[in-house]
Amino acid sequence: MVDAVSRRHVLQAAAAGAAVAMARPAWAEWPAKLDVLVLGAGISGLHAARMLQGAGATVGVLEGSPRIGGRVWTARDVPGQPEFGAEQIGSSYGRVRGNAAELGVALIPPRTGAMGEMRLPQTAVSLHGATPVVDWAHAAMNPLPPSEKAMLPLALMSHFLMLGDPLDDLQDWLKPQFRGIDQMSLRAYLTQKGASEAALKLINVTVPAWNLDDANALDFLRKYHYYRWDSQHGPYHVVRDGTSALTDAMAASLKRPVALNKIVAHISAQPQSVTVTCTDGSRITARSCINTIPPTVLKDIPIEGKLPPVQRAAWQAQRSDQSIQICFDVKEPFWEKDGLPANMWTDGPFEFMAHTPSATLPIGVLRFYVNGSAVAKLNAMSPAQLRAHALAELIRLRPAAAGVVQAGRIMNWSTYPFSKGHVAYFQPGDVARYADAMGQPVGAMYFAGEHNCRVNAGVEGACEAAENAVIPILEMIGKS
Ligand SMILES: Cc1cc2nc3c(=O)[nH]c(=O)nc-3n(C[C@H](O)[C@H](O)[C@H](O)COP(=O)(O)OP(=O)(O)OC[C@H]3O[C@@H](n4cnc5c(N)ncnc54)[C@H](O)[C@@H]3O)c2cc1C
Repeated sequence: MVDAVSRRHVLQAAAAGAAVAMARPAWAEWPAKLDVLVLGAGISGLHAARMLQGAGATVGVLEGSPRIGGRVWTARDVPGQPEFGAEQIGSSYGRVRGNAAELGVALIPPRTGAMGEMRLPQTAVSLHGATPVVDWAHAAMNPLPPSEKAMLPLALMSHFLMLGDPLDDLQDWLKPQFRGIDQMSLRAYLTQKGASEAALKLINVTVPAWNLDDANALDFLRKYHYYRWDSQHGPYHVVRDGTSALTDAMAASLKRPVALNKIVAHISAQPQSVTVTCTDGSRITARSCINTIPPTVLKDIPIEGKLPPVQRAAWQAQRSDQSIQICFDVKEPFWEKDGLPANMWTDGPFEFMAHTPSATLPIGVLRFYVNGSAVAKLNAMSPAQLRAHALAELIRLRPAAAGVVQAGRIMNWSTYPFSKGHVAYFQPGDVARYADAMGQPVGAMYFAGEHNCRVNAGVEGACEAAENAVIPILEMIGKS
């Protein structure tokens, strides 16, 4: 295992659970039958709970981990307080921005040089372990044909994916006329769009999926279409005090505090009520439920009720990008010494190095980001081995880093037990097969979470899915 984070979380959850049990937990005071029980205190569950509370419903939220936010996670205990999860709040993210405005959470433009602004001169490139170059377009190591040569490896995928973009409306991806693209892998689609073999090889390094072959072309097309559409409406923002400031404020606005360390282990979803059993043996019943647990975790939770086999098959088929971040403690900005940008793309084991400006650390945060199938190799190492390997690789590529950098905190989304990945995606053919099936209500249990969004993506998609679940529930419990 690459990091003890999974084990640590389960142990922390057990220890905290025991302490809370002795003090009679707040959830024990919840009404005998809540109107709605929300599973998961990520942004989807919190947005749902706030809407339900606003409509007068009695709501309780169960969260398996010891913290609020799920894949929103500002690492306040790491120098520079990096975002381990969501950072960019798109211009069109009305639901997310609405929560921030209502709760007085400040959004600001990204600090200069943030990850979304990786332009050509700001990213060095290294292939096959060679010394990184800034002038990629003219570098001898650049294997791309003339028409692609000037494009940075990171820019290739969106270039080919958006060529002749056939989607118009944000919901087009669900229409039958796009079934042909649904059947295609990302590799097949990008090839059809004219990407060279050399380009595909580079794209495959940092594609946010296991690889180009297991990623559904239509799913990626629709997400990139959405990101482009959003950017055309204005610049993105970040939460001034870290994205967790938003989810913490959302949780704090609930009348009943979120019950932490409540790991859902069994669900009975009947037409008139839902009963949830947690790993600590506690049972909570509500008239209805909104389940935001990611499919990578949900697929293994037993559910009693009329759950069609195709729905569990849909959860089982959902993939989640595997990713690891390795933070560095930097004493001196070695990139000023070697004259190369701190941001660096490589086809080596650590793929991408990103420098993020920070409000609390003048030198900023430096991280390796690894995703996809490369994560499996790193997961075979202990955290100490991984840190040593990362530092050695950094010093090999950037000798000026020697003596001024140490490998620090590791965030491993692939082994994080409460999402087992980064962001959900479909495999080829699965949009037609499963997109409708995966979020169908089961008895009085409705489903939300980013994987169930239809129009948006990211944190806004998570809130959209929450709204889609809240509306029928309010009708059902007579609060609409
Ligand atoms: C590295 C990274 C960068 C990202 N960047 C962006 C970005 O810049 N902009 C953007 O819009 N989006 C971004 N995203 C995506 C965004 O974070 C997610 O789409 C969104 O946070 C998902 O919210 P959710 O509530 O659906 O799921 P989650 O946040 O995963 O919430 C699910 C909750 O359920 C809990 N849970 C799981 N299992 C159980 C169980 N058995 N019992 C009880 N509770 C359980 C989890 O602990 C979690 O709190 C990023 C994600 C990652 C990982």
